[in-house]
Amino acid sequence: MSTFRALRDASLDGKRVLLRAGFDVPLDRGSVADTSRIEAVVPTVQLLLEKGASVVILSHQDRPKGKVVPEMSQKPLVPVLSKLLGTEVLFAESCTGAETKMKVDALTPGRVLLLENLRFDPREEKNDEGFAAELASYGDAYVNDAFTNCHRAHASMDALARRLPSYMGLQLEQEVTNLSRVTENPARPLTLIVSGAKIETKLPVIEYFLKTGDNVLVGGAIANTFIAAAGFGIGISLVEKDFIPVAADLLQRAGRDGNATLHIPLDVIAAPSPESGEGAEALPLEGIASDRAAVDLGPATAERYAEIIRESKTVVWNGPLGVFRVPAFAEASRRIASELQTAAARGATVIVGGGDTLDFLAQEGIEYSSFTFVSTGGGAMLDFVSGKKLPALEALGAGA
Ligand code: ADP
Ligand code: MG
Repeated sequence: MSTFRALRDASLDGKRVLLRAGFDVPLDRGSVADTSRIEAVVPTVQLLLEKGASVVILSHQDRPKGKVVPEMSQKPLVPVLSKLLGTEVLFAESCTGAETKMKVDALTPGRVLLLENLRFDPREEKNDEGFAAELASYGDAYVNDAFTNCHRAHASMDALARRLPSYMGLQLEQEVTNLSRVTENPARPLTLIVSGAKIETKLPVIEYFLKTGDNVLVGGAIANTFIAAAGFGIGISLVEKDFIPVAADLLQRAGRDGNATLHIPLDVIAAPSPESGEGAEALPLEGIASDRAAVDLGPATAERYAEIIRESKTVVWNGPLGVFRVPAFAEASRRIASELQTAAARGATVIVGGGDTLDFLAQEGIEYSSFTFVSTGGGAMLDFVSGKKLPALEALGAGA
């Protein structure tokens, strides 16, 4: 971490800076439906402008797979950026080429130019050196403020960063500083709450915490797979059958040879359908009928998990604990969120992340500031707190 150059200390007067943003915003019939990812990069742009630089913003939108897809254009972002920055924002219809080069060359200090979606060019996702060289020719320095994309070795994230003096953007610095509190000498006990669905995407973080952490608490559909692995009937619950052997192996290894303790639910909220809040009841694991689905953690489990949180000094929470979009099945997530707010208030490090987890916070109107840090990362956050090296962060350390 210490090898990264701080953007605040950089002298960039009169320089042209390439800023990699991670916009990828939801678009609704050509207009930006949620501006939060654009707002998030504003402090970094402003800092660059205050330093006397001109700024060329690079970003991607969606997955056009190397082709021009007009619905995935970055153009609708121009008025939003312009309004947020309080200055005109120019636009280049392609991320490379002669016309773009002319627009870049004409950019005077204090001005901002947004380039078209990098992923319209197939060379971006291939980490193509020629593409990176062309982008590098547009600027004197490179700033990465796209944490959400840092687990991807794409040209604008990796090869480009190696070609120019490179810096972390303010947002990225926040992510790295806060997430490092989990991976570098964390205060203990260190606890992971891992939940939601798609166990495969969460196995590396479970493995890492089993090895380096003290407690792993499982919830959601992931817990259902563990409940099945522990030999209980799980009815019509969402279970990833292919992963039952993997879950059984994790249960075997937990609590041994210095491994963390793995906690599975003691009880669940079972319902006739995960789509409706009706007919739900709390049941012990032995009592889950064959026509019922486990849709949330039961109260005894929430209480047990709350006790462990109260004893913990560092907690990472990823994944809603139940089918939270049905309000009746958001109870355990609410309880645990509130317990985590209390933990953060008493000084524990509480890190929260995950796309659906953030949707849950929004649904309930829970303020990000009530936790130590809420990561925007998703996959990048999971990789970081799994102790993996992120290609784009490695590249930043290796800049010219
Ligand atoms: P995140 O995006 O925060 O990493 P995930 O995508 O892994 O979280 O999981 C969120 C999804 O898991 C939500 O759609 C939620 O409804 C679902 N989920 C949580 N608990 C259950 C459950 N018991 N049964 C089925 N789906 C569940
Ligand atoms: Mg998700």
